Amino acid sequence: MNTINKKQKVCTTTTTTVKLCMKCNKKLHTMGFKCKCDNYFCIKHHHSDSHECSYDYKTANKEYLEKTNPIIAAKKIDII
Ligand SMILES: [Zn+2]
Ligand SMILES: [Zn+2]
Repeated sequence: MNTINKKQKVCTTTTTTVKLCMKCNKKLHTMGFKCKCDNYFCIKHHHSDSHECSYDYKTANKEYLEKTNPIIAAKKIDII
């Protein structure tokens, strides 16, 4: 038996670091928005259009469509 020990414990140190907007360096406190590119932004810049978002939306959208398509197909079959 091949036992692969893949236990990855993420040590979350409770350090209260104030998040800053990656675009304007505004302190976010509770108003922070986490973008899909793993960066935090203020209410003005959290949109991917408002900052140079590195998140691959094209790939994500393609994956999303691939995931949702079988559901649509299954629904069509269900009707019949
Ligand atoms: Zn900002
Ligand atoms: Zn982004």
